This record gives sequence, C-alpha cells and structure tokens, in this order.
Amino acid sequence: MSTDHSGTVGSTGVLIVGAGPAGLVLAVELARRGVRYRLVERDALPFAGARGKGLQPRTQELFEQLGVGERVRAHGGPYPAIRAYQGGQVVWEGRMDEPREPTPDVPYPNAWMLPQWRTGEILRERLAELGGTVGFGTALVSFSQDAGAVTAVLRHPDGTEERLRADYLVGADGGRSTVRRALGTGFAGETREEQRMVLADVRAEGVDREYWHTWPNSESGPSAFPLALCPLAGTDTFQLFQPLATDAEVPEITLPYLQQMLDHAAGPGRVRLTEVIWSSLFRANIRMAERFREGRVFLVGDAAHVHSPAGGQGLNTSVQDAWNLGWKLAAVASGAPAALLDSYQDERLPVAARVLGISTALHDKGFAGEEDAHRRDDPELHQLNLGYRDSALSRELRAAPGPVRAGDRAPDAPGTAPDGTPVRLFELFTGVQPVLLGFGPRAARLAAELAGPRLRAVAVLDPGQPVPAGASGFADTDGHAARAYQAGDALLLVRPDGYLGLATDTGDTGDTGDVDDVDDVDDKAADQVRDYLGTITGQS
Ligand SMILES: Cc1cc2nc3c(=O)[nH]c(=O)nc-3n(C[C@H](O)[C@H](O)[C@H](O)COP(=O)(O)OP(=O)(O)OC[C@H]3O[C@@H](n4cnc5c(N)ncnc54)[C@H](O)[C@@H]3O)c2cc1C
Repeated sequence: MSTDHSGTVGSTGVLIVGAGPAGLVLAVELARRGVRYRLVERDALPFAGARGKGLQPRTQELFEQLGVGERVRAHGGPYPAIRAYQGGQVVWEGRMDEPREPTPDVPYPNAWMLPQWRTGEILRERLAELGGTVGFGTALVSFSQDAGAVTAVLRHPDGTEERLRADYLVGADGGRSTVRRALGTGFAGETREEQRMVLADVRAEGVDREYWHTWPNSESGPSAFPLALCPLAGTDTFQLFQPLATDAEVPEITLPYLQQMLDHAAGPGRVRLTEVIWSSLFRANIRMAERFREGRVFLVGDAAHVHSPAGGQGLNTSVQDAWNLGWKLAAVASGAPAALLDSYQDERLPVAARVLGISTALHDKGFAGEEDAHRRDDPELHQLNLGYRDSALSRELRAAPGPVRAGDRAPDAPGTAPDGTPVRLFELFTGVQPVLLGFGPRAARLAAELAGPRLRAVAVLDPGQPVPAGASGFADTDGHAARAYQAGDALLLVRPDGYLGLATDTGDTGDTGDVDDVDDVDDKAADQVRDYLGTITGQS
C-alpha cells in the first residue's frame, strides 16, 4: 500500500472512498481476500455519533462472517421496551417488536443495538488485524476513468495532492457523495425540508437505562414521533431524538437548547442533561441513485441510497451493498470474468428500492401519528428474506425446488463435525471460497470430486455416513439442515456472501434403478457446477 504522495502516480486494485460502515466492510472483505486496495476518509477522525444504531439480523450474520460477530455481541445489547409518559406517569408500555428465540436456521432473530461509532471502531479493529489502515484526512477531489483504470486525485491533510491509478473506484462516501456527483448520476427522490429532526448523543441524570423513554407531545399516544431518549447499549449515554414543528426556529444545538426541549416534553427538572457528545439537525432525505455503476466506478451505501431513519435500514442496506460487491471485486482481481461485476447493480438496486419503500412508509406513518407507527415487526426489516432470485447469478435447476431456492439466503443449521464436535453451517461459510453443499451420499461424493482451491465441498450426511475425501463433513445430527433446505439429493452452491447461487439435482438410484441414468444426471450436475464456477471465479 503506497503512502508516498510526492507527485508520482501510485497504483492500487480498488480505491475505496469513505470509511463509514460501507467502506469499512468493503475494506475488510478485500483485505480478507488479499486484494490490493486503499481506503481513504476525508475526515481527520472517526465518526463519533450513535446514528444508525440498529443492526438487523442479516447484518449480524454478515458481521459473523467477517469475524466480528463476538465483538458485536459483547459491545451491544437488545432493544429495551418503550415507555411513554405524561405528567411523569407511565401511560403506555410496549415494544417495537416482540423478542424472538433463536432457531436452528436463524441464529440472530432480533435487531441488536450497537452505536454506529462502535460499529466503526470494531470494523477498524478487524481491518487492523488484517494489516489494513484507514487513510484519515485524505479526500477524493476528482477522478477520471479510461478503458484500463481510474485515475483519482486525493488531497492529504497537509494540502498535497496525490494521483492514484486504481483498477476500480468505489464511492462509499455517503449521501453527499463526491463520486456520485462527479459521475453526474441522478439521485432521484425527495428532501422533505419541512420534516426536520434533532438527533443527539447525551449523558443524562434522573432517568433509568431499562427503558426507551418517550414523551408524547399530545394526547395521541406513543406513535406521534414523541421526544425519545434511548439508552445506548454498551455505553452510559442516551440517543435523544426529537422531530421539530415545521416552523420551529432552531438555534445551535447546545445543552441548554436540548434541556429546554426535554423540559417542555417531560416536565421541568424531571430529567437533567449533563453533556452533549454529538448532535445533528437533519431533514428526511429519501433518494436513490439511478445507477450504482458507471464503468469502473461503483456506488455503495448512502452514496447510492438515503433513507429515513425510521425502520433502521440505512446502515444495514449500506453494509449489505459492500458485502455483495466485495467478493465480486476480489473474484475479478483473481481472474473471474469482469461481467460478474454487472450483477452488483442488478442485485442491489432492486433491494435498495424495496427497502427504501418500506422505510419511507414507516416514516410517513410516524409523521402521520398512526397508532402502530412504533411497530417494527415487518419481517422484511430483518433483511433475511431479501435475496436475488431474479439475478442472472441465481441458477435454480432442480425439478422440484425446495423452500430455499437459488438467490435466497442460505440458512444456518447446527450439526456435528466428523470428530463429534458441534459445528454450524455458518461456520463452514466463513472462508473466502464458495461452498458446495452435497446433500446425501451421492451428492456428497460428487461435491468432493468438484472441490479445489476455489471451491470448498461440504458433505451433508446422516450421522455415521462416511465423509468422502476432499469434503468437509457435516453430520446433520438432528435433521436441521434437511428441514431448513429440504433439498433432496442435490448440490447447492453457496456464494461467498452466503446466498444460494446454484441448485441442481443429483442422481437418485431410487427413482429408476438405472445406474446409467443416474450417472448422466450426475455428469450434468457436475457440468452445471463447473460452468457456474467459471462465471464466479474464472476457473471451472
Ligand atoms: C441524522 C441521521 C440519522 C440516521 N439514523 C439512522 C438510524 O437510526 N438507523 C440506520 O440504520 N441508519 C441511520 N442513518 C443512516 C446511517 O447512518 C447511514 O445509512 C450509514 O452511515 C451509511 O453508511 P455509509 O458508509 O454508506 O456512509 P457514511 O456513514 O455517510 O460514510 C461516508 C464517509 O465518506 C466520507 N467522505 C465523504 N466524502 C469524501 C471524499 N470526497 N473523500 C473521502 N471521504 C469522503 C465521509 O466523511 C464519511 O465518513 C442515519 C443517518 C443520518 C444522517
């Protein structure tokens, strides 16, 4: 990684602009895969606010794959129940969503609270473990692209400029993205100037940390976007949120201003603010880029779509963009066809549009003061059922597909390794290669034959069945994998980002009893897997 900016033109594989959650996830993913990259961040210091504090279940799964799952669990916490007060009395208590028990296929069923600054800290720590750094104080100023590369101009804290050639440039530079603007990509949608909100991280006395406290400003119950004080898990601070009246005059956001706001809502002197750590005044901004890619330049995260905070989708959708793009950039750097990168926009743009629709509907409910506006029990918010069935990378080739199809999230399942130790499918997915699951002895043997440096085979077998050489064994001790996938005798290829890429039948002598027919089916399945591998790795 070059740090010399004396006027010579350095080079890198991927230049990532912006070290928010999306840029950091992308950098960790590229670092894990040994891809050359540079990560630059205009600000001199890490982002300090709690802002996007809710990690949805699918994001928790992503973080487990990146190797930060335990840290995320250790530093965060569950969402507390909400209480609404009037005149100091509790008038309502409820939850955004009823807590669910983990199941074998969904290990993290609930949203998990982790302040955004802490998410950044954990990801930077992981990046450092992988030998990476963030180039703080370094801004992308301009860039141009030709057939072979992108040439970027970076400005360093001392004012010097550096020219850098990169195979690809990724704009992870937030809603006001320099990259998107330089590309001239449209950012369609709306900014609701009249819907302003104050968000602040504060320390407070006279209020417990067991509940998310809200003070409705009217008799309309808890859902009219009251002033809210949420204890931030893993800290001694609270996040204060207050939508403003359309005509409210907003001075500088200081402790006296916030105290005045709180006194007005909760009653004078009931809660005392002692410190403001971070604050922001923002407007509802609901927009999406017309394209997520222009040639060698990609947009991820808020640079590609901005959401209302309602529903906690912004950060989650952002990191999933980076997760989708990361393995593809790495594969192309190792020889996969460049056309693989077309699937980034094809897959992520429809997902972003759908999520934007959901968060906007929740936002509108809140501003309309609808009774159930605090509810967050729509399963779509968890992002577990968002997938890519319509993608060209999803090849569902089975005669009778089960409930989990090509394009869907590959579920978890607990089982045992050949030595008897407990193992989960998700643990077997944490490597950097795609994983070929062979369900049943024939498919397991075939998977083992197809395994190689770019494909890991996992034999999903009943306990006691022999594991073929070349495959990792997964004994489906309690039948959880069989129940979750209902795959039959099949090969299922799990992409490096944990989505099912290909599903195909293997031969089952029970059907015809004819060994030649069975071998034909297996040969065809093997060819389909090789062809798919060619598409995503360049080698079959
Ligand atoms: C006020 C507010 C409240 C929010 N509340 C929630 C919430 O409750 N739940 C939720 O899920 N989401 C929330 N979000 C959204 C969430 O914070 C974002 O979706 C998330 O930060 C997006 O991550 P990102 O990495 O794409 O962009 P960002 O976090 O914006 O990071 C972009 C980075 O790029 C850097 N940068 C910009 N230009 C350049 C340049 N030219 N060169 C180098 N670096 C550059 C910036 O300094 C920044 O660090 C909120 C957002 C806002 C603004």
